[in-house]
Amino acid sequence: MKIKHPKIYVISRPNLDEIELEKFLIDNKLSWKKDELSRPGEQVVEISGRVCYMSFTDDIAKIRFPNRKYIENLIARGHESVLEHASWTFILDGVSRSFTHQLVRHRVGFSYSQLSQQYHDESEAEMILPNGLDKSHPAYAAWEHAVDGVLVAYRSLVGMIVDGGPDDTRERLRWIRSVARSLLPNATSTTIAITANARALRHFLSLRGSLEGDYEMREISALLLKTVASDAPALFSDFEVVMHEDGREIVVKNM
Ligand SMILES: Cc1cc2nc3c(=O)[nH]c(=O)nc-3n(C[C@H](O)[C@H](O)[C@H](O)COP(=O)(O)OP(=O)(O)OC[C@H]3O[C@@H](n4cnc5c(N)ncnc54)[C@H](O)[C@@H]3O)c2cc1C
Repeated sequence: MKIKHPKIYVISRPNLDEIELEKFLIDNKLSWKKDELSRPGEQVVEISGRVCYMSFTDDIAKIRFPNRKYIENLIARGHESVLEHASWTFILDGVSRSFTHQLVRHRVGFSYSQLSQQYHDESEAEMILPNGLDKSHPAYAAWEHAVDGVLVAYRSLVGMIVDGGPDDTRERLRWIRSVARSLLPNATSTTIAITANARALRHFLSLRGSLEGDYEMREISALLLKTVASDAPALFSDFEVVMHEDGREIVVKNM
């Protein structure tokens, strides 16, 4: 049995099309200068918010807030729908099926596409160490033994099922793997593509990032926060990754 570790790939991040923005400003006889310290995701949010009151100006004296303060003010006022205009697409690889089962409960502002255990052969499935179970712990050997047994049974079931089920080859494979996958443990590694907007990510991080006993959730939450906070720090300025007393990272939300 092979152990897999999580990796995160960011395949899409917020972007501002400055040419289109300029067209909009000219058409509406407006002008606006971006805060040079701000990033595209933060600018898209600010611009979207300014549309609400057409509060565009390039007169620095009239600009009440630089980008970061503008966004902090949106958050403080609970005007968080504006944060939905910044979104990312990630591929999470090497996370457990139990993690993704919890993740996909987040319905609003998230889109998912996950590796199918019906179409993908799992005979060589890799496993995620459950909640950081240390290899030196006595429970590790029992866990490893059980998982090895499951993989042997999976391969044996796939090999045994030759009769019955649908005739169509593709559907037949689906049927066979559906029977065999019923044995696979929650620790089975999976891959999932996620698109999420900043507001949804903030909600996810506030609910899931600081669950002390859920190491995998904490690890992925910290990876996600580090990624999005480096792209658009103002959208996540009230969150931080800190080292917990148990020696693992945890995401905390500062009030
Ligand atoms: C510590 C913890 C323990 C948990 N334990 C369990 C458990 O034992 N069993 C279990 O089944 N789940 C459990 N969950 C999952 C939890 O109940 C939620 O399903 C999950 O956290 C997603 O949260 P959400 O619904 O707020 O997110 P989303 O689905 O993304 O919704 C975001 C927000 O939109 C609003 N919203 C969404 N849908 C509706 C709706 N239909 N009606 C009204 N408002 C809506 C709500 O304000 C909601 O907070 C647990 C979660 C946590 C953090």
